[in-house]
Amino acid sequence: MTKTVLISGAGVAGLTLAHWLRRHGFTPTVVERAPALRDGGYKVDIRGAAVEVVRRTGILEQVRERRTDVRAGAVVDRSGKRVASMNGDSFGGREEHDAEILRGDLTRLLFETTRDEVDYRFGDAIAALDGTSVTFSSGRTETFDLIVGADGVHSRTRELAFGPESGFVHDMGYRVAICTVPNHLGLDREELTYVSPGRTTLVYSTAGQTTAKAMFLFTEPAGIDESDPRRALREAYAGQGWEVPRLLEAVADAPDFYYDRLAQVRMDRWSAGPVALLGDAAYCASPASGQGTSLGLVGGYLLAGELAAAGGDHETAFAAYEARMRPFAERNQKLGPANVKRMVLSSSGQVRMSMVMLGVMSRLPGRDRMMAAMMAPLHKAANAIEIPDYATRSQHP
Ligand SMILES: Cc1cc2nc3c(=O)[nH]c(=O)nc-3n(C[C@H](O)[C@H](O)[C@H](O)COP(=O)(O)OP(=O)(O)OC[C@H]3O[C@@H](n4cnc5c(N)ncnc54)[C@H](O)[C@@H]3O)c2cc1C
Repeated sequence: MTKTVLISGAGVAGLTLAHWLRRHGFTPTVVERAPALRDGGYKVDIRGAAVEVVRRTGILEQVRERRTDVRAGAVVDRSGKRVASMNGDSFGGREEHDAEILRGDLTRLLFETTRDEVDYRFGDAIAALDGTSVTFSSGRTETFDLIVGADGVHSRTRELAFGPESGFVHDMGYRVAICTVPNHLGLDREELTYVSPGRTTLVYSTAGQTTAKAMFLFTEPAGIDESDPRRALREAYAGQGWEVPRLLEAVADAPDFYYDRLAQVRMDRWSAGPVALLGDAAYCASPASGQGTSLGLVGGYLLAGELAAAGGDHETAFAAYEARMRPFAERNQKLGPANVKRMVLSSSGQVRMSMVMLGVMSRLPGRDRMMAAMMAPLHKAANAIEIPDYATRSQHP
């Protein structure tokens, strides 16, 4: 009977798996490369089926207490004039039960449910895999019954067990950068978006934060050397209007600068022998899908549940996890390319037309209903899975 499970990565997916494995009577160990759990971060959405997972995990109330409470979203023009404004939930594509929260707040809540029950090892990582024998960067070697890679889009576990990421990580042709900036616009739980050809810039403030976040979403910067991401961002956004120059200045000092290709992970199989993949490592849908967090939550719950249902027989469990999860993951992955095309417009004609349409729409009485209709594919995809009840050994880990 499988008992010990090594999980690589204390992100949303890995922490959800750890929680549910404990409740099913397994003994998970979590190894996380970062020296400590990271707080804060960007805002993420919990939608549809994932809300039910959060409820069963016992943290729904706390998630709601820590919601970002972004009350309004607006598109601005070059001079900063609000061209279109909407309420925050319509703007962010959230339905009544969905919740938006900072990624770090969610991981903190998940972590707290198991911090005394699970062996968490921060500042370490898997260096080598030989069957079920794991050598860590710290030098120690140990054996586990199973190993789960929940270590994100650039998963090291995937590389060790399945091969180089070039075979699985598909570049969508865009870049994303995000960091904390001073809230010099004095935003109070508001999100502003400025769109120019191939370059979209967002700034938002969330409840309880004195700083703001700036996010840059843009087409692959042809001819720009990306070895220094801050410089690459500066060059890609040179000559942009609105508050962009001021935001770029702030980027230079940001302590938490993140820059990556927008990418999706596609694999024929999510397991190989005793190793399985979960979350972005297996089926990253990209930040543009708005569903990565929900996929991590649902996947973690299902993988633990199927291991319990199969009495620890990992071959049966991995096959059942993949059979349930794959159609859901693939449906949500389809949202990514469509969304990014709506968010990053390719020509000035497209930008002008979109501004006019948004301006008209935001003044119509039925604007929230129209926005909801536009978001229908997202909500359908977010709900396109049933969350089974798996018998647990304990109510709480
Ligand atoms: C800029 C940005 C904006 C986003 N916006 C949204 C959004 O609005 N809505 C939404 O739903 N999702 C959003 N996402 C996506 C979402 O954050 C991810 O899809 C989700 O967090 C996936 O969770 P995960 O646990 O699979 O991976 P991750 O969150 O990437 O966690 C992986 C963990 O593994 C650790 N790790 C990495 N390598 C190793 C290693 N070798 N050994 C040990 N540990 C390792 C990492 O430090 C990290 O803690 C966004 C992502 C980004 C980058």
